[in-house]
Amino acid sequence: MAGQMFCYIAGNEQEGHFSLINEACSMFAHTNPLHLDVFQSVVRFEAEVVAMTASLLGSNEKASGGQICGNMTSGGTESILLAVKTSRDYMKVKKGITSPEMIIPVSAHSAYDKAAHYFKIKLWRVPVDQDFRADVKAVKRHINRNTILIVGSAPGFPHGIIDPIEELGELASTYKICLHVDLCLGGFVLPFARKLGYPVPPFDFSVQGVTSISVDVHKYGLAPKGTSVVLYRDHEIRKHQFVAVTEWTGGLYISPTIAGSRPGGLIAGAWAAMMSLGLEGYLENTRKIMEASKRIEKGVRQIPELFIIGRPDMTIVAFGSDIVDIFEVNDVMSSKGWHLNALQRPNSIHICVTLQHVAVTEDFLKDLQDSVQTVKANPGPINGGLAPIYGAAGKMPDRAMVQDLLVDFMDSSC
Ligand SMILES: *Cc1c(COP(=O)(O)O)cnc(C)c1O
Repeated sequence: MAGQMFCYIAGNEQEGHFSLINEACSMFAHTNPLHLDVFQSVVRFEAEVVAMTASLLGSNEKASGGQICGNMTSGGTESILLAVKTSRDYMKVKKGITSPEMIIPVSAHSAYDKAAHYFKIKLWRVPVDQDFRADVKAVKRHINRNTILIVGSAPGFPHGIIDPIEELGELASTYKICLHVDLCLGGFVLPFARKLGYPVPPFDFSVQGVTSISVDVHKYGLAPKGTSVVLYRDHEIRKHQFVAVTEWTGGLYISPTIAGSRPGGLIAGAWAAMMSLGLEGYLENTRKIMEASKRIEKGVRQIPELFIIGRPDMTIVAFGSDIVDIFEVNDVMSSKGWHLNALQRPNSIHICVTLQHVAVTEDFLKDLQDSVQTVKANPGPINGGLAPIYGAAGKMPDRAMVQDLLVDFMDSSC
């Protein structure tokens, strides 16, 4: 529904990048790493994508223990599902936990809800503090002898704010439980932003207590859609991710991730994206999108009807309003061709800044300013807009009613 804007189409440079990836994908479209022995080159591509990603996220640092390992998956959701399932089974062996519970901040991605549903884990969602960072005390209060996992995001999808990973790491170490860091969004930005001199608090395997990390190559890694990496601190943890079936008449079956057959083409595409961009390419991209994000943040702060949510750490800028209905502003922005994400608690919207925004930050700010004025002058719902649905989601805890509203909206648009 809400366009997520991870579609980096901008200029000739990007087109070159896309055609290279498309070529790599099509060359390996028929391959399948399930058959390790047949498709050795994609198996190697996967290992290299994992190793390169790990080296961005602390695997070269002494504190990491030198055993970081992982797999490619189909996206952030699968990486998270696997990290949760692996943590559950690791904690079962390590601590005998059979009624597992996990604790996540309200800002953590919905994929953890999905994991809780799929893997029968009790989920506690705890508040964030006034800066919209995970409230470590609230997390601590929910830890009990069934806790298998706590979660921090760097940054969280809603407001682009980094949770206090070091403090969460201390909790995890103290209670000997798992800590997953969600770097789906930040993994290919934060290491470079830090190099560029932006203040970035510790967020990766250099932090004691971090047991797993998810990082999407198909977002800021500029790889084809359907590529992500899940990483573990060591093999002892990761082995619980694998499923090995020894009694099948089909023979010995070993599968590392959720899918059986997997798309070798996407793995090759991700490898090509990383190799062609290299550290220099990502650094340069990060420089541009960080500058654009700071410009947008500053510009939004100058619109008196709007307020920024917290202090954005990266390339997501979230904002709301006490004066106009921000979802109406969103609808006007949509009509001007901007795709922003609607958020709640508080009602707000965010822009996820990508390369395609770099050249149009001033246009964005002008359209935003105009949209705010339009809504101020004409309050009330805009025909065909999504504002009533988003508004309802915030007010009604009843999911079924929101689902019905959504059905009405979709039916009315065909
Ligand atoms: C995008 C994202 C996810 C989920 O990733 P998908 O690739 O959409 O499955 C999880 N966490 C964060 C922080 C994200 O930005």
